[in-house]
Amino acid sequence: MKYVLLGLLTFYSFIGNSQNRSIKVKIHSIKGYNQFEPFAAKAASLLDSVLNSEEFKTEILDGKFTKKNGLSNEQVYNSIIQSHELQGAGGEDGIVDLRLRTINKDEDHEVWLKRCELNSSAGTIGIDGLGDGIFAICPQRLELWAMSDDTAALAAHFAHEYMHLLGYSHNGLFKSRTLVYKVGDIVEAILNSKEKPFKTK
Ligand SMILES: [Zn+2]
Repeated sequence: MKYVLLGLLTFYSFIGNSQNRSIKVKIHSIKGYNQFEPFAAKAASLLDSVLNSEEFKTEILDGKFTKKNGLSNEQVYNSIIQSHELQGAGGEDGIVDLRLRTINKDEDHEVWLKRCELNSSAGTIGIDGLGDGIFAICPQRLELWAMSDDTAALAAHFAHEYMHLLGYSHNGLFKSRTLVYKVGDIVEAILNSKEKPFKTK
């Protein structure tokens, strides 16, 4: 009983003020993930908790980002919370609509299969859907993360690609300074800073 209570307290302190929850992450479709579907569901639910957290809000409001489409940090935060997708099939506002697949030889050019190799110089993690709103992840990367139970890395991938759906890009030099990259990093850092029960190992 004591442990259950402790777990609940940790959960509520993590998601912050629960009545402020205004955003939900939803997986609409998933293809090619196979045995890793539960892993993806876990990552999506963790992303949900992060996006609703005070920590995430603070990181966005206080962060320094390039490529934020001329918006203030507050406007950026509001655009994420509003979750109005500009690319792909979208869905209801207030819902982070995810459509997921793995990169595969039937749908993707050979160059992507090469870039996906874990030792490739490209170091590709995934493709943002190039306008169709469906994120594609390298199967090798997915398996690697699933085997090490790295839900934070997958949640960060979802967050990064989702920022593209909201109309943000990281074209040009210094990609790591862009909003798109930094939102992924913020999500991953918040999740990695959490103790159990968020670490499922
Ligand atoms: Zn990207």
